[in-house]
Amino acid sequence: MVLTELVRSTQMRLDAEIDTILADCRQQGVALYCRRGCANCCRLAVHATWPEAQVLAATLNGEQMARLDAHVARLRQEGEDDVNLLAYLRRHRDTLSGCPFLDAGGACDVYSVRPLSCRALHSTRPGDWCGLDLATLPAIDKELYLQSLDPQWVDVLTHFLSRPRLAAQQQEETLLSAMRDQYGFSIDGNLTVLVWLEREKGLSKYLAQGWTAVESVLTPLRLSSWLVRVVEA
Ligand code: SF4
Repeated sequence: MVLTELVRSTQMRLDAEIDTILADCRQQGVALYCRRGCANCCRLAVHATWPEAQVLAATLNGEQMARLDAHVARLRQEGEDDVNLLAYLRRHRDTLSGCPFLDAGGACDVYSVRPLSCRALHSTRPGDWCGLDLATLPAIDKELYLQSLDPQWVDVLTHFLSRPRLAAQQQEETLLSAMRDQYGFSIDGNLTVLVWLEREKGLSKYLAQGWTAVESVLTPLRLSSWLVRVVEA
């Protein structure tokens, strides 16, 4: 199966798994707060695999491209100070104004092709909590927050359901593994940067020529490992 077709099948498989998980939550009385237009989670850094970014890139119109260009320019310009993962994540939440694929009403403009990691985020707390930096909370509030989390349902230190995220990671690995089988290496990283690499640099044209050709595109861009990660087979 070609990688772009595999993207659709992994997304459908994940959506079906999440439907089952959410039904389970409803049955068990686990409150979920995600709704159209909330978008606080879209202010976080979004991870994607290369095949997902390639599929999304093919759908963008001129206006979406302009927003993407501006976002990536800012991300690259300010990203030189990202000395660690925490700084990179914090900058997304605090200074970049959200995903460039958000529309004016706070809904996802690329909903049908949004990546697995977006599909997997389901909040057990009201949306205000999704854009919050825990480090900014007073110690007592942080303690109360952590005590309120039910480890049966959520990931450590977050209020997002764990099962959808685990299922998404498995589907991401399916895509990355298929990419390594095909090209000898896989690429994943920041969603917006990967989409930009496809639209602005035409990176998929270089994939079949091998790693040296891809490297000739990536190296001059000096992208941090938070933005693009390459794993050899
Ligand atoms: S791709 Fe869509 S769902 Fe994902 S962060 Fe961007 S706007 Fe939100």
